[in-house]
Amino acid sequence: MNRIVGKIYRVNGPVVKLQEVKDLKLMELVMVGEEKLLGEAIEIDNQKATIQVYEDTVGLIPGGNVYGTGCPLSLELGPGMMGNIFDGVGRPLEDLKKLSGDYITRGIVADTLNRKKKWMFKPQVKAGDRIEAGSVVGEIQETRLIKHFPLVPPDISGIIVKVAPDGEYSVDQEMIVIKTADGEEKKLPFYHRWPVKLPRPVREKHLSTVPLITGERIIDTFFPISKGGCAVIPGGFGTGKTMTQHALAKWADADIIVYIGCGERGNEITEVLVDFPKLMDVKSGIPLIERTIIIANTSNMPVAAREASIYTGITIAEYYRDMGYHVAIMADSTSRWAEALREISGRLEEMPAEGGFPSYLPSRLADFYERAGFTVTLNNKEASVSIIGAVSPAGGDFSEPVTQNSLRFTRCFWALDRALASARHYPAINWITSYSEYLAELDHWFVEKVSPDFPKLRSFCMNILQEESKLEKVVKIVGASSLPEDQKLILETARFLREGYLQQNAYEHIDMYASMRRQFLMMKAIRSFYDEAEKALKYKIPVKKLVELPSAIKIQRIKHTIGNDEVEKIEDVIAEAVQEIHDLIKVYQG
Ligand code: ADP
Ligand code: MG
Repeated sequence: MNRIVGKIYRVNGPVVKLQEVKDLKLMELVMVGEEKLLGEAIEIDNQKATIQVYEDTVGLIPGGNVYGTGCPLSLELGPGMMGNIFDGVGRPLEDLKKLSGDYITRGIVADTLNRKKKWMFKPQVKAGDRIEAGSVVGEIQETRLIKHFPLVPPDISGIIVKVAPDGEYSVDQEMIVIKTADGEEKKLPFYHRWPVKLPRPVREKHLSTVPLITGERIIDTFFPISKGGCAVIPGGFGTGKTMTQHALAKWADADIIVYIGCGERGNEITEVLVDFPKLMDVKSGIPLIERTIIIANTSNMPVAAREASIYTGITIAEYYRDMGYHVAIMADSTSRWAEALREISGRLEEMPAEGGFPSYLPSRLADFYERAGFTVTLNNKEASVSIIGAVSPAGGDFSEPVTQNSLRFTRCFWALDRALASARHYPAINWITSYSEYLAELDHWFVEKVSPDFPKLRSFCMNILQEESKLEKVVKIVGASSLPEDQKLILETARFLREGYLQQNAYEHIDMYASMRRQFLMMKAIRSFYDEAEKALKYKIPVKKLVELPSAIKIQRIKHTIGNDEVEKIEDVIAEAVQEIHDLIKVYQG
């Protein structure tokens, strides 16, 4: 059985100190006390050690035994994760509930993967073949949306002695027997374990030139993220972090979503748990949960498990990436995770750095975001992990350490703005302060897949918005009515863009998702109006008259009236605007 690696002598929240330590490794997973609470050795000094415990430590007493497991905190990876909900250390919430009721008691050992469920397996390799580390062994239809490709672990290769034939198996049955280079025969089941803090190896990581299309206009058009990229969404309470992440989880063109609900209030996570399983994929009519994995860690769950949840989530994402999938992670919120780090660090009596956070906050954030990327997997497939991390700075102050350090390791910044949210401008992403450093790498994609004019249109729209922002100060002093007509036209066009383009209501069915073609044509409509109106100004036609033309009103309302399945109708609206303005010019000429 498990060996005793030390004795408890002090308990301080999630931090437990041991003495009489022997035979314990750093980062080893341990079981603390007779309740066998899960913990991890984070510091070993001679006969003493410090354990971070993933469960509530109330009632632990000095003198109690601590047992070693011989391996670091690791996760079972295999079929049965898709569509499931786990706690921060990978225990299925459903099983925890069955075992202990709504209030999760401690020391519950629940396997990540269901041992009873049978899976239909089709092998893709045969005895006698050579198999490389990380290769696909066969396939299992895990959910209606996702095929699972069981893998040889990234550290085992050799000649196949035996493979399970077509048939039904539970995860712990034998999948394959491999003879390794040193002559040893390894019997492998349908899953393997992987230490969550260790990035899974890939053949190579390279620059991504493909965007993760989200259907959110402000993101795809102005601040796109690449597949394999990282973005942060910082915003004060109620500015729309969770709404944005939900929208991306629903619509982003990733194959698989890993949603880490990290330490937010219980009711927000409940929303995820209740809402998500009901959401349907519009194209297939199949619940989106069948391509989603949720890690749920509310603020009332133990703080150390919250710290672990980020690693659990990214490890699962990497595992599906290794099968050749494009995976997107939503982490809501990384601030709550950083607060867990801070709390544990405080208990360890470490010297606090900025904001009370430990000095290793930046390196931990870097470790997390660096696990994203566009990769060639060990089995030579192109696949990716993208990370979208929400940050909830107190008081919406972006100068605090979690926001600032997140910015260092990510290249895309979607800044939520309190003033916009108050004005009910949603998504409340500020178009002046946000940025994407992926634009240059992605432009050729927009040119090839959407239109050669796409980058030009984007620059035009951004220029108008920036001009508006400059004019704002003048308008505040002298009022808009005293501006020259050409500047009034800029302001009106900016209004079209803000209200008719940037604003996108997540609840409005026709507009909750915008295809790239629709985004392009909507911009084109606004630009066409501007160009024609500019000509009209030469004939002394007032801007006020131009914006009241029926076609101009139609352009502002395209998002409510023309859906993704009939976008070409936008061309008709454009033609109408050109015609109406021409007619008006004729009147003024005559
Ligand atoms: P946060 O997670 O930042 O605290 P939420 O995502 O819960 O904020 O958003 C707060 C509220 O803002 C939502 O309940 C919703 O009413 C509104 N909201 C945010 N984004 C949108 C959107 N894109 N469309 C419509 N409403 C939105
Ligand atoms: Mg939220």
